[in-house]
Formats: sequence, structure tokens, C-alpha cells
Amino acid sequence: ELANRMAERAADVVKSLMKMGMMVTMNQAIDADTAELVIEEFGHKAVRVSDSDVEQVIDSVQDRDEDLQPRPPIVTIMGHVDHGKTSLLDAIRKTSVVSGEAGGITQHIGAYQVTTESGAVISFLDTPGHAAFTSMRSRGAHVTDIVVLVVAADDAVMPQTIEAIAHAKAAKVPMIVAINKIDKPSANPQKVRTDLLQHEVVVEQMSGDVQDVEVSALTGKGLDELLEAIALQAEVLELKANPKRAATGAVIEAKLDVGRGPVATVLVQNGTLRKGDIFVVGQQWGKVRALLNDQGERVDEAGPSVPVEVLGLSGTPEAGDVLNVVETEAQAREIATYREKTAKDKRAAIGAATTLEQLMAKAKADLDVSELPVLVKADVQGSAEAIVQALEKVGNDEVRVRVLSYGVGAITDTDVGLAEASQAPIIGFNVRANASARNSAHQKGVEIRYYSIIYDLVDDIKAAASGLLKAEI
Ligand code: GDP
Repeated sequence: ELANRMAERAADVVKSLMKMGMMVTMNQAIDADTAELVIEEFGHKAVRVSDSDVEQVIDSVQDRDEDLQPRPPIVTIMGHVDHGKTSLLDAIRKTSVVSGEAGGITQHIGAYQVTTESGAVISFLDTPGHAAFTSMRSRGAHVTDIVVLVVAADDAVMPQTIEAIAHAKAAKVPMIVAINKIDKPSANPQKVRTDLLQHEVVVEQMSGDVQDVEVSALTGKGLDELLEAIALQAEVLELKANPKRAATGAVIEAKLDVGRGPVATVLVQNGTLRKGDIFVVGQQWGKVRALLNDQGERVDEAGPSVPVEVLGLSGTPEAGDVLNVVETEAQAREIATYREKTAKDKRAAIGAATTLEQLMAKAKADLDVSELPVLVKADVQGSAEAIVQALEKVGNDEVRVRVLSYGVGAITDTDVGLAEASQAPIIGFNVRANASARNSAHQKGVEIRYYSIIYDLVDDIKAAASGLLKAEI
């Protein structure tokens, strides 16, 4: 392909690579730096893809007003554990299984669509909970139009209810409250409404503007009203998309299927995705080989707000990755490769800055570093404070240890996020990182050090700081 684009003979390109000591065949991939050398060797000028090129290819379409059509809302169900999120999703799905299609097998692809009695179409994300919602959001995929907040009438507002409210508000997504388990004798929907007041959610029954519907996922009571409430909210939002343009969408789920290869469920956000379309999705690319809807049926296209399984990917993307249809395979591949490379560079850069050893090395090269930022997590308040005091004594006027934050308890994602942003290592004293924090620390290249003896800890930090001191001299 490189030869092709330079209008040179492939054999000559291979020959030039061999001269550089690279024994490659014609179809072998080479890295960008090598490619650049080869290009110069042939007297051409290499033009590397950059972020703005990628954006240009992807965002070159402007939707005209007359092309915009109403699109179905995309709904995420959130709420406290055991309040009935999964039951509600299942119940809604069952009420809408197209009558007459007995034996129709519903496929769990991560999202599904239902049609209300009045004919409105609604798309539901099938993975309830906050983790999916926030991880999608942090990857830049703003998928959800409406949040249904499930609160069990026999339990009222709980910690994760409050969290869900915070998430919805942060994302500026309107809420509808589903007061669930109304069939239970102990149900007290009024308590739910008054509880919610304290969290600045004023439902209609309390003269506010947040719709509230009493439902039972068990008996099916109120489900139709809930769906109509969603349809009404959607009308207010005036959701629109342009089905005529090339598709963009967000990955809801992705997996490597033994028989089918990489498979991703994509929720089309704008445009129409068709069989044969060439696309880039995150660091992967592909050509749509087949599309399957939430009933497991093959379809030729998927319009706005429609969830489909996409086959024909080069690899498995991640949930929250954005899919864009592009014109040529070369473009798709170029963008995917570019993204892969920048992601790798970023990881390397972060990794380089956050291990203690490398901070020291960096200090030797770069005399400006005179502060060693750290995060401290300990098992009890007393040790946390003792550590902070000890650390603040390390160093002198030129080099200081700066404790960005300290606290009690396991190392969490929040700590890793802060450490990443500040390029600081995390120190755990008699505490561990939870699994999710460990994973994200690994991904983000954040160093976590564990200690159970304060002297060891202080010694290590002293060594790191004196590395900085030496660099100063
Ligand atoms: P999730 O953790 O929010 O997904 O909650 P689940 O959907 O798993 O429900 C938790 C429990 O509550 C299960 O035992 C359900 O059978 C039960 N449950 C869910 N909805 C209702 C309801 O409307 N009425 C009654 N009586 N039980 C329900």
C-alpha cells in the first residue's frame, strides 16, 4: 500500500527496507517512523495524519435543517441495587415483544427498542447501573437522553439513588422517577417523593417538573404509563437526527466471538449505518459485513437511535468508543493506526512521569522539578496523619514532598484519577487498591506503592527526593 501511494514498485520498497535491515514481506505492516524513512528514501514527503485531519474526515458533514428528522429517545435505567432495575428492563422488554411472533428469541445485545401503545419508539440501554453510564461519558460518548431513576417504594432513597441523581445532573440528562415494587404491602410511594425532595428532585406530585410513575416490574402495573412518560419527555426534548448522512454511533458492548470474530453493539446516534459501510471505531476499523438487530435478525441498515450488532471489525473496540463511517479503507486504517499510536505515546508519557525512579531520572534531565507530589491512603486516620507529617519533613527549600491528598480506606478509582492528573504516585499504607482501581492504575500508568512500615515508606521517599536534590546540585 505504501508503494502504491508513492506510485513506486512494491519490490523496490521491500528492497529499500531490506537495506535498512528489515526483512519484511510485501504485506507486512511497518511502523510509522520506518515508513517515513522509506518515503524520504524515495524522495517523497511524508504527511502524517494528525488529530485535525481525523476530525476533518469525520466531521465534514453539516446537517441541513430540512434533513433533520425526529429520533427515538435513548434511555438508561439507574438506581440503588435491588430496587428493580434489571426486573424493570426485562418487564418492559416482555410487554413489547411483538405479538404474533411467538417463539421469537430476544437477543441481549446491550440495548433494545420498544414501541409504546401510542406508537412511539424508545431505545433502552440494557446495562443498568452507573459504571456503564460514567465510563461511556468519560470516553466522550453522550448516549443517554433520559434517565429513569428506579426507587423501590418499600425502601425509598438509598446511597446509589443519590449517586444516580448526581450522575444524571452532571450529565444534564432529564430524569423520570419510577417508583417500583408498588405491589408490595409495605410500599410507601409518598416517602419516596418526600425523600427525593431533599435531593432537589421535585416530582410532579409534589408540584415539581420531574415526572413520577408508580410501577411494579413484578405485576406489570404502570409500565405503559412509564413508557408514555418517557415518550412525552422525549417530545419535549425534540430529539432529532439526519438519517441521510453517513453514520456515527457509540459502542455499547463489544466482545470477541469465537464464531463471528469481533462483534460490537453500536447505537447509531446520527445518520444511517449500512451493510458495506467502511468505518473507524476507536482504535479499530472495519467494513460492515452484517448487521443484526435486537431480535437477532439480519438487517441491511440501522438509522438513528437504533442498536445493532456490527460484524466485520478489525479488532474489539471498547464500550464508549465512537464509530464513524468514512469513505475509504485507507482512511479508516490510517485513523485507527494514528489513534493507536497516540494512545500508546500517551500511556508511555504518563508511565514515564509517575514512577518514583523515573521522576528522579526526569529530575536529572530537567532541573525544574523540585516537587515530588504524592497521594497517601492509610488504614486509619492516625497513620495517615503521621505519614503526612513525616513526608513533609523530607526535603528542603529546593525540593519538597507535596502530599496532594490523604485519606483513609482502600485506593479507589477517584484516587487513581487524581494521581493521573497530577502525575503523582499513590502510597498505600496497610491498604490495597480495589480491583477496578488496580486496573485503571495499570492502564493509566499510575504507580501504586504499598507499605506497612512508616520508616520504609519515608526512606523510599527520601531516596526519591534526594535524587531530586542531587539533580539540583
Ligand atoms: P437491580 O439490582 O436494581 O437490578 O434489582 P433486580 O431487578 O435484580 O431486583 C431485585 C429484587 O427485587 C429481585 O428479587 C426482584 O424479583 C425484586 N423485584 C423487582 N421488582 C419488583 C417489583 O415490582 N415487585 C416486587 N415485589 N419485587 C420486585
